[in-house]
Amino acid sequence: MNTVEGSESHCCEIAIVGGGLSGALVAVQLLRNGFTGRIRVMEPREHLGHGLAYSTGFEQHLLNVPAGKMSALPDQSGHFLEWLRSRNWNGAAPDAFAPRKLYGEYIEELLHSSVAAGGRGSFRHIRAEAVDARSAAGGVRLALNDGRSVEVQKVVLALGNPASATFESAFVEEMGEKWHVSPWIGDALRVRFAGERILLVGMGLTAVDAALALHGQAMPCRTYMVSRRGLLPCVHDLRYAPASPPSFADATNICLMFRQLRAQIRQLQNEDGCWRMAVDALRPVSNEIWRGMPLSGRRLFLRHLKPYWEAHRHRMAPQVQRRMCELQAQGRIEFFAGRISRSAAKDDAIELTIEQRRGEGLTLEVDRAINCTGIHEDYNKCPRRFIRSLVEGGLASANDLELGFRTDGAGALIDAQGNLSSALFTLGPPRRGELFETTAVPEIRCQAAALARRLIETS
Ligand SMILES: Cc1cc2nc3c(=O)[nH]c(=O)nc-3n(C[C@H](O)[C@H](O)[C@H](O)COP(=O)(O)OP(=O)(O)OC[C@H]3O[C@@H](n4cnc5c(N)ncnc54)[C@H](O)[C@@H]3O)c2cc1C
Repeated sequence: MNTVEGSESHCCEIAIVGGGLSGALVAVQLLRNGFTGRIRVMEPREHLGHGLAYSTGFEQHLLNVPAGKMSALPDQSGHFLEWLRSRNWNGAAPDAFAPRKLYGEYIEELLHSSVAAGGRGSFRHIRAEAVDARSAAGGVRLALNDGRSVEVQKVVLALGNPASATFESAFVEEMGEKWHVSPWIGDALRVRFAGERILLVGMGLTAVDAALALHGQAMPCRTYMVSRRGLLPCVHDLRYAPASPPSFADATNICLMFRQLRAQIRQLQNEDGCWRMAVDALRPVSNEIWRGMPLSGRRLFLRHLKPYWEAHRHRMAPQVQRRMCELQAQGRIEFFAGRISRSAAKDDAIELTIEQRRGEGLTLEVDRAINCTGIHEDYNKCPRRFIRSLVEGGLASANDLELGFRTDGAGALIDAQGNLSSALFTLGPPRRGELFETTAVPEIRCQAAALARRLIETS
């Protein structure tokens, strides 16, 4: 098979589009399991393995999972912890929450060592973005944003999360340049002047990250956080181990299941346990439950229960919570539950009206606002060019919830005609919708290992 990469001609068996954690771990697993074909990773970022989550330069941005559970290798549970110790990281312990940028370095180093052991000729990082995919005689032809194209037998779509979520509201238009679509784009998280007032829209882990970054700078600022329900993420308490999952009377009835879950929590609390034991107990069985649930139940969960579930499931490290409380006590951060209904220019600032969930409307004057809401990416109307090309060209299809691609149980894409692809595969966030748990390291490391095995077996 001929592959055009600039002036070079290559045979490339596997292209991995996206070199964040997911893409890096597929490459690691291929190399560690004896794959000898050529692997090309398309990733515009300079460093592989960091992606969106682990590219942060802020030391205050910690992992939200303790180090003992963050190994990148499913068969070596202490691998990350050993790496931290080998780096003499102060405080390396199973229940420590390490900085996220350190985790990016860990993944990058793991990839480099796997490449070195597997033979450098077989691996290459192409610093470009894939923008289009078409079927080709022996596989798929990918077009890159620098004008090159690459023909490959198999493609792994490790596309991760978009840096920003669409946020449609009239007040945003009125804010003009004072509105940032994402904390991760440009210098949104740089405090402009002492006393700057910044509104963070959203109160999940992304908004907490943004607050920590803003308040970690020498220039003092004031932040306001607002979300419809006003729910901040709960905090980890590592004294409690997961309980046994309840045997649900009817695992297709989401309302009944939540009633049973609340009963289990009450019982655990009566026995000096904690709600975390019940929430964490569901992790190993939640994908199976999700798959068996009717579409109406899955939609109901996404519309009404997800914000409550996420605040309990995606928790913050204790030291992060302490810092947030400290900032609140110092009056440097304020929280509101409600909806922003209006914005109007006032001198150099913006006056916002917030309709509070409980209580009266209030007006707030801010200098800038940053969108920190979660990701609601509809793959049928995706702003990302490459995903649009895959869906519009019929090589991929969005799943029933429009959240990510339709796939088989192991991540092979299902095309617009309902055929299973033998050339296109995905893992991690693009399987959101198909799977309940698919975005965190413990799931991604297993998906990467299974996908690599499948690619090796079928190549
Ligand atoms: C801020 C944040 C913090 C998190 N913290 C944790 C944590 O502490 N613990 C945990 O378990 N999980 C955490 N997660 C979950 C996270 O989703 C996973 O851990 C993991 O980082 C996902 O990796 P990924 O490679 O799938 O996606 P990403 O990290 O989003 O990487 C995708 C990569 O693909 C590239 N890309 C996308 N499209 C193209 C294209 N068309 N062509 C070429 N390249 C492309 C992007 O440039 C990007 O580098 C966090 C997530 C976020 C967003």
